[in-house]
Amino acid sequence: MAPPPVSDMASIFVQIGGHTEVNAQGCHITNYVPAANGYVQVRWRGVKYYCHLLAAVMQMQRHPMPGEEASHLCGDKRCVRPSHMTLESGALNKTRSYCAYFREDPNLVCLHDPACL
Ligand SMILES: [Zn+2]
Ligand SMILES: [Zn+2]
Repeated sequence: MAPPPVSDMASIFVQIGGHTEVNAQGCHITNYVPAANGYVQVRWRGVKYYCHLLAAVMQMQRHPMPGEEASHLCGDKRCVRPSHMTLESGALNKTRSYCAYFREDPNLVCLHDPACL
């Protein structure tokens, strides 16, 4: 089944936005209950979507290509702020956990593009 047009998905994303709170890091944290993997899902037109994937689609204005994942620049799985998201390979996405882990270390040099937050 072809994914819905990105322009159609704005409506469900607005609905998710009504269920968020901004934290100290500027993340938009949903108050939906996360799945066991820590990610929040929403049902739209009979299909379940990860909210952070919808946020990444809103940010990039396209769907992920094969092998790409929705990736958090902020390292917070519950965040659905589009500007904290990108689409990139799963391998690259995994390397961001290093930056997230050492976020408080002033010696951390992030080489990601877009950079981690
Ligand atoms: Zn965030
Ligand atoms: Zn980084």
